[in-house]
Amino acid sequence: MSQGMINIAYIGASILFILALGGLSKQETARRGNYFGMIGMGIALFATIVGIVTANYALLIGAVIIGAVVGIILARKVAMTQMPELVAILHSGVGLAAVLVGYANFLEHDASLMGVEKTIHDVETYIGILIGALTFSGSIIAYGKLSAKIGGKPLLLPARHWFNLILLVVAIWQGFAFVAANAAEGGNALLPLAVMTIVALLFGIHMVMAIGGADMPVVVSMLNSYSGWAAAATGFMLANDLLIVVGALVGSSGAILSYIMCRAMNRKFLNVILGGFGTSSGGSSAASGPAGSEEDIKAVEAEEVANMLLGAKEVMIIPGYGMAVAQAQHTVYQITKALRDKGVKVRFGIHPVAGRMPGHMNVLLAEAKVPYDIVFEMEEVNEDFPQVDISVVIGANDIVNPAAKEVPDSPIAGMPVLEPWHGKTTVVLKRGMATGYAGVDNPLFYKENTRMLFGDANESLNEVYKAIVA
Ligand code: NDP
Repeated sequence: MSQGMINIAYIGASILFILALGGLSKQETARRGNYFGMIGMGIALFATIVGIVTANYALLIGAVIIGAVVGIILARKVAMTQMPELVAILHSGVGLAAVLVGYANFLEHDASLMGVEKTIHDVETYIGILIGALTFSGSIIAYGKLSAKIGGKPLLLPARHWFNLILLVVAIWQGFAFVAANAAEGGNALLPLAVMTIVALLFGIHMVMAIGGADMPVVVSMLNSYSGWAAAATGFMLANDLLIVVGALVGSSGAILSYIMCRAMNRKFLNVILGGFGTSSGGSSAASGPAGSEEDIKAVEAEEVANMLLGAKEVMIIPGYGMAVAQAQHTVYQITKALRDKGVKVRFGIHPVAGRMPGHMNVLLAEAKVPYDIVFEMEEVNEDFPQVDISVVIGANDIVNPAAKEVPDSPIAGMPVLEPWHGKTTVVLKRGMATGYAGVDNPLFYKENTRMLFGDANESLNEVYKAIVA
């Protein structure tokens, strides 16, 4: 394959990746976006394997087969609720790849590079390994937190900002030492590189450990961004234009998503990264006990809920993580259809951080074929609750917690939430009185106009559906 052909294939793949990102921004075009991405990746792999690789085909094909088999098994096995963890662990793979490519690049460097060119190459290698290492360790901790293998409580070292500062200073200092040792005849550049790698690994662990439960969405999107920059840095090391473009696309789209998440949660990006949010134990946190007394909890049966829904004019459904756990989206759609057929106006209110990954609820509702035109963002419906007869909260907790507005020292204080308590009646479906991801008790469950339908959301909704169509 000539260089010209490779360039054309790379430009084509880059355009397809941009179209993929564009497609993924809307539910209606998301499927098409995925196809663009798949075709782009196919072209990129083909052009690289046929055009650029000249030796070691057996090794390459062996690795591709192993990767494909692992990918297929994972994709088949993983439940929708485990998707966020899978994404986190895949990010760690990108980080590790950047570290390994960086070391390989350093150990077998191009001897023809001299002067400024060599310095630039050394800096690329150093930064690539740095971003890769912190993406790797940070993503592994994020995986642990998302899969509940590590507790959601933030780890707050007494002098954590100083610790971060020291790590930063050591990383910069070792960077200078690395470039200097590499330039000197017989200098030992491996030592500063190894020290920096350990520092970056520690920083990744510390950064994610210090983040409170409620701020995890920002971390997930931020690690997504880092994995992009790690790929871009690998592209610089390997002088591969496509990898630079793709890395920059992932890096910048992840950064934009982090910004959107921060705005949705009313957080300052820097504060989230430096840790400290989700740390207060005051007010309504689980540690300080429940947000109401047991007598205020009003449990209802599925049949009552069905009657309430049939008597309503306006219904707002608010799905949360529990809907994903119960896989209740199909039953939700059946109920929606039955109610709409009977003339009830049904809408969905979606919180930007509902579930465990950006767009989690939209994916589930699209899978169940809920029409897009009745699915609304939080800001689009929050003012409408006074006109809503019944709000059905399905396995959601943090995203409907009034403490975010009412309790100033709550770990989720300031986060905008859906406000069903302004409506006539709220029905909450969950299994018990457990807290949500942020570990904050929810005063909504004790409010006068709230009814609790206890049990697995799918089982409860099945009962409700049966009663509606009976
Ligand atoms: P929450 O985690 O706050 O609450 C989910 C609720 O669902 C729980 O209280 C649980 O209560 C209930 N539940 C679990 N399983 C079932 C079931 N089978 N049937 C019925 N109910 C069930 O979820 P939200 O969606 O309200 O909020 C999302 C939280 O996750 C936020 O804190 C957000 O910051 C965080 N997060 C979001 C990410 C994102 O990108 N979207 C990423 C990482 C974290 P019970 O056990 O009593 O049934």
